[in-house]
Amino acid sequence: MGPPGSGKGTRARIIGKMFDVPVITAGDMLRDAVSKGTELGLVIKRYMNLGELVPDDIVIATVEERLSMPDVEKGFVLDGFPRNINQAIALDRTLKRLDAKVDYVVTVAARPETIAARVSFRRICSKCGAVYHLKDIVPKVEGICDECGGTLIQREDDKEEIIRRRFEVYEMQTFPIIERYSTVGNLREISGELEIEEIPSVLEKLLSPRD
Ligand code: ADP
Ligand code: ZN
Repeated sequence: MGPPGSGKGTRARIIGKMFDVPVITAGDMLRDAVSKGTELGLVIKRYMNLGELVPDDIVIATVEERLSMPDVEKGFVLDGFPRNINQAIALDRTLKRLDAKVDYVVTVAARPETIAARVSFRRICSKCGAVYHLKDIVPKVEGICDECGGTLIQREDDKEEIIRRRFEVYEMQTFPIIERYSTVGNLREISGELEIEEIPSVLEKLLSPRD
């Protein structure tokens, strides 16, 4: 969990690689739904482009469907979910059904200046969702994704006014639910300021292998 632009998604992907488990990214799944152009996609797009949370029933159904696939049995990383108290309660229910538990809740903290710079230079692959940065994570060929050859685009909701709203939503709805997990003793904080290369070794120390 972390505010927009904190480096949450980058860290989630690295954790997924470390443990060889799927990374389930709520924002990517919602963006996928939007790109399909269905009626539901249009509804989702309206909320996302305003920086508002997409309604819980839609997001919860999307994540639950993903969590009913067989590849999550060996574990998974959730990125961008839960984002409010309702979603946290829904996750508790789903975990019970899967007979699974939360091993770690990783929070990411970064300075406002870092975040602002990151968001304005951020580009994402329109096909696979890979994240680039015009200065720090430069693609080999300008405007093209290294991993899948897709076109790199700027997210509609990375515009300044919308980012401001996404922050507010984080502070008001997401930040407060971190406390739910703090009593379990599995809360870990990682800096959002690290260089990409430094992240794996920091995470190794933070997250010991599960038993
Ligand atoms: P960031 O974490 O940088 O804000 P994300 O890609 O995680 O970026 O989220 C982008 C947008 O997708 C959010 O502003 C929101 O509209 C929507 N979204 C993502 N996850 C959720 C969620 N769990 N519940 C509701 N809306 C979500
Ligand atoms: Zn790609």
